[in-house]
Amino acid sequence: GQDLATSDPDIAKAIAGELQRQQDQIELIASENIVSKAVLEAQGSVLTNKYAEGYPGKRYYGGCEVIDVIEQLAIDRAKELFGAAYANVQPHSGAQANQGVFMALLKPGDTFMGMDLAAGGHLTHGSPANQSGKWFRPVSYTVGKDDQLIDYDNVEEVAQREKPKLIIAGGSAYGRTIDFARFRRIADSIGAWLMVDMAHYAGLVAGGVYPNPVPHAHVVTTTTHKTLRGPRGGMILSNDPDLGKKFNSAIFPGLQGGPLEHVIAAKAVAFKEALQPEFKDYARRVVENAKAMAAGLQEAGLAIVSGGTDSHVMLVDLRPKNVTGTAAEVALERAHITTNKNGIPFDPLPPTKTSGIRVGSPAGTTRGFGPAEFRQIGLWMGEVLDGLSANPDGDPAVEARVREAAVALTRRFPIYNR
Ligand code: PLP
Repeated sequence: GQDLATSDPDIAKAIAGELQRQQDQIELIASENIVSKAVLEAQGSVLTNKYAEGYPGKRYYGGCEVIDVIEQLAIDRAKELFGAAYANVQPHSGAQANQGVFMALLKPGDTFMGMDLAAGGHLTHGSPANQSGKWFRPVSYTVGKDDQLIDYDNVEEVAQREKPKLIIAGGSAYGRTIDFARFRRIADSIGAWLMVDMAHYAGLVAGGVYPNPVPHAHVVTTTTHKTLRGPRGGMILSNDPDLGKKFNSAIFPGLQGGPLEHVIAAKAVAFKEALQPEFKDYARRVVENAKAMAAGLQEAGLAIVSGGTDSHVMLVDLRPKNVTGTAAEVALERAHITTNKNGIPFDPLPPTKTSGIRVGSPAGTTRGFGPAEFRQIGLWMGEVLDGLSANPDGDPAVEARVREAAVALTRRFPIYNR
């Protein structure tokens, strides 16, 4: 057959454009990363042709001998990486991993508790727009008004009052260490399940620089594409094989049909990478770099929610510069620094505007930036935002200067051969 450039030049050109964008921009979106060529190759393989409903050794389709080897390797490596007795590598996404746990442990209408979305919880932890919020009854805990850290007394109080059947720890915009043991004690005190959604922290957990929730939680869900640096996808882990059976049935046939075995192969490749000693070094540098970026941002006059970060991610409070998250995201993108607007705890502005942006170090660390580069990026962001503060359309001269410096920096740390 023809190659993509010949058969579909429109898509080929668009992909080339996206490659160039990734090469030329400083990627600060905390949930993104830059996967290895090996991960790309596995995901782009002939495995995409195969149906394999079921699980290794128990398939509903013939011809699954090779597929079984691949999925079993992914499962075994996941278990080794996180010290778990059980792993399901089939969820197509983090959202579907979470949905699988809900399906296995809850009934529609049941009460569950997650972190308030405004405090950093995820959509699937009870947003009114999400199935979790529409079909179940979410209650939430929040962070302290002053320190912006999880308020464990509040967690306990809401748990005692509302008696949720499931408690979720973890979120999308919380940079600090979470006390999983304390969450488990609270869950046990009311006979609730504890689910930890470690989607954001998984790579740091694998690298040993963030606490592993697996020993504490009844079930752990994750994505595989954030700090863990694998293909887009989800996973469920547990130390309880009996619960594991329920999660398996919930994912297939409960929610999904055929697993994406090309993605599962790429997950296996990423897990092998994460098992190497170099990955520990990567995880350590991710945290070191995030702290350096936080310092640069603070030096530039911006505030970091909770005063800093223990991980790869932080929320930047833009109020000292009197600009909105929406305007900041657009101005920074003009300067080739990619971020996303994000509400901050107790944000006075609506989610369409926000008083914050979320930034993280996983992608930049993968391409080789160190603390000096990340501090500098923080200072550049300050310059762009000062320009925006002075003029609602931004300062074109400052943005052009930062863009040039940003592109020069990306050239010093090439990805995918540039
Ligand atoms: N859980 C958390 C904590 C997340 O941050 C995300 C990512 O946005 C998800 C779940 C959902 O993952 P996905 O986008 O793969 O559905």
